[in-house]
Amino acid sequence: MNICVIGTGYVGLVTGTCFAEFGLHVTCVDNDREKIALLSRGISPIFEPGLEEMIKKNLREGRLIFTTEIDKAIENSLVIFIAVGTPSKKDGSVDMTYIDEVAKSIGENLNGYKVIATKSTVPVGTGERIRKVIQQYSKGKKVSFDIVSNPEFLREGSAIEDFMRPNRVVVGADSEQAIAIMKDLYRPLYLIETPFVITNVETAEMIKYASNAFLATKISFINEIANICERVGADVNVVAKGMGLDQRIGPKFLHAGPGYGGSCFPKDTLAIAKIAEKHGYRFEIVRAVMKVNQRQKELMVAKIKKAVGVLKGKTLGVLGLSFKPNTDDMREAPSITIIQALQREGAKIKAYDPQAMEAAKKIFKNIEYGRDAYEVAKGSDALIIVTEWNQFRNLDLKRLKNIMKTPIFLDLRNIYDPEKMKEMGFKYYGVGR
Ligand code: NAD
Repeated sequence: MNICVIGTGYVGLVTGTCFAEFGLHVTCVDNDREKIALLSRGISPIFEPGLEEMIKKNLREGRLIFTTEIDKAIENSLVIFIAVGTPSKKDGSVDMTYIDEVAKSIGENLNGYKVIATKSTVPVGTGERIRKVIQQYSKGKKVSFDIVSNPEFLREGSAIEDFMRPNRVVVGADSEQAIAIMKDLYRPLYLIETPFVITNVETAEMIKYASNAFLATKISFINEIANICERVGADVNVVAKGMGLDQRIGPKFLHAGPGYGGSCFPKDTLAIAKIAEKHGYRFEIVRAVMKVNQRQKELMVAKIKKAVGVLKGKTLGVLGLSFKPNTDDMREAPSITIIQALQREGAKIKAYDPQAMEAAKKIFKNIEYGRDAYEVAKGSDALIIVTEWNQFRNLDLKRLKNIMKTPIFLDLRNIYDPEKMKEMGFKYYGVGR
């Protein structure tokens, strides 16, 4: 089967490459010429473990091609995935420009029956919107098509594994033919007994927002518990463990830290609050979740100030810049708010991230980048772990203590043992313990 994926970002590139790995013929389309030129040479524009190797293999075996020619890609495909960005507008609502542009192109190039499957996270009602735009631009052509919502749940950093072994696949459609084609596409996942949720388009669209809003809620919840733990002398890591052993709660997403970031939770929580508002409902929980998340980042700055004292003239070492480990994605990373606030107070920042420094250079001014954790620690008044990359989990503490100006250690991801750190002679600060 020939399929195409329009939008070759984190989601589109992983989707297209993994479907090629399933044996389908996939055309990945993007209007960013530079990106397509790199990909055609087998170079991934993003860091995602295992992705570049899989791109190279499928290019070599002729199942994957990259192009800017959207018209031919649409003409040659039975299924067209839409995976373009859906960023927030200034008022928090979703910017539908890219979705509308793609729907227009699909309408203009429709040449036979197609399934149009949306992978992008889109407001409820977008399926209908896409249908209308396609109908408007395919005027006069006697061709039929079906609309499907197939939201994506992959996590950056483990995107391939998440695509290949998802917890579930959600397919929203009103046509039996489209559902049968989608099941055929995902046949390798059927074989490993992946649960499928087959529903209507609106429900599928809602499942994605409800899932992300719930996960963001879990994070803000444990962050508030952490803030209370700090005041009452409890340890949030142990509290989370004790909570998570209850199967009704579960252990995942109960890690206290500097607040959530990334390309999804901030924009999707904002979007679902806006969608609710548009339909006359105030989504109170999610509004609180967003407020708590903003405050959490500010509290981290206050924590650093309290530990270090006057920031003016101090040198602070920051470990980890990406919004989470195993990605180079800097979108809405907590490091941005934290570093910029520290700089405003006159602190000098030295930083290291295993993959995100190129992306970070486009965001920050006046940062000195180190080649590793030790170069950043050398001469620093404090060391701050902002993102828990594996290589920061087992640092040579003796060496760090010797090269730092003062042994102040702020562990915003709670990856070190407070007692051990104190024994080693550090002034240690975690979150909620
Ligand atoms: P991204 O910004 O990395 O990629 C979007 C791509 O679409 C870009 O390469 C851009 O050049 C391309 N594009 C825009 N308009 C185009 C057009 N008219 N024709 C061809 N290409 C076009 O975005 P992303 O992170 O991959 O997210 C895509 C969607 O998937 C969003 O709706 C997002 O919410 C959702 N999503 C993202 C993740 C994630 O972890 N990143 C997970 C699940 C869902």
